[in-house]
Amino acid sequence: MIRNPFRRPSARPVIYGHRGARGVLPENTMEGFHWLRAQGFKAVEIDVQLSADGVPVILHDPLLPPQLARDSQGNWLAEPGPNVTTLTAAELQAYDLGRLNPEHPYSARFPEQRAVDAARVPSLAGFLDWASADPAMILNIEIKSFADHPELGTPPARMVAALLQVMTRHGGANPVVVSSFDWNMLHELRRMAPEMALGYLSLARSGPDCTIYQGSPWMAGQSLAEYQFCLPRLIAAQGAQCWCPHYLDLTAEDLAQAQALGLAVNVWTVNDPTAIDRMVGLGVDGIITDYPLRALHRS
Ligand code: MG
Repeated sequence: MIRNPFRRPSARPVIYGHRGARGVLPENTMEGFHWLRAQGFKAVEIDVQLSADGVPVILHDPLLPPQLARDSQGNWLAEPGPNVTTLTAAELQAYDLGRLNPEHPYSARFPEQRAVDAARVPSLAGFLDWASADPAMILNIEIKSFADHPELGTPPARMVAALLQVMTRHGGANPVVVSSFDWNMLHELRRMAPEMALGYLSLARSGPDCTIYQGSPWMAGQSLAEYQFCLPRLIAAQGAQCWCPHYLDLTAEDLAQAQALGLAVNVWTVNDPTAIDRMVGLGVDGIITDYPLRALHRS
């Protein structure tokens, strides 16, 4: 069996900076990525969407976020939008994403985040060029796709083709795992590029954002019932390298089963010190966190 390169290489989990390092610097910005590398971290998570002119860009929300984005006049957006997929990559450059809107409740979640005025939406191409300077840096590229609101995103065939084109031209030696909550994207990727490592994101807690349930559009037609209601078995059967569950969903039993099946288990988004300790104690392979230094000091 080929060793899964995303399994933790030592007793310590790999620390993935979430959206760069959202707790420290503006999310999904080159400034955050630079900081992460300068601190010596070896794994980063980013979110990718497609612009109207087919350029993969690094941005989390399907609608430009009023909690972050300022227009060319320097004013924070009054409401979410426009939709990322309706703007060209050049048009996206008009927005400044370097400072949290202090009036927005989101800003209270990241009180330590330093502002970087004039931070722009990075392109995936630029990010890959940057990452190639450290070939040991693991890249978790999350495709943002909204299986319950497909009109907000890009159809899988177009998204995956654009992603693969950029990765072919700009990808270096870095280990890359492409992840998504929308498993339709991962199945398209498996079809078009069977060599690509896949990360299956899941949110199984009951609630409005849950992605794992019978008939879920996020699961690309997969049914837990066919796998004795064992999510690790279902995901391993898809040919995945990584399973990325919400940390509150993870049980010791599921972790052991997933790792026995060869999966790396990378939990998100673990910021609370007690939760970090619990995940380290469980023996996860990766911790995706907004606060990489916090995780480093506790693992
Ligand atoms: Mg993400």
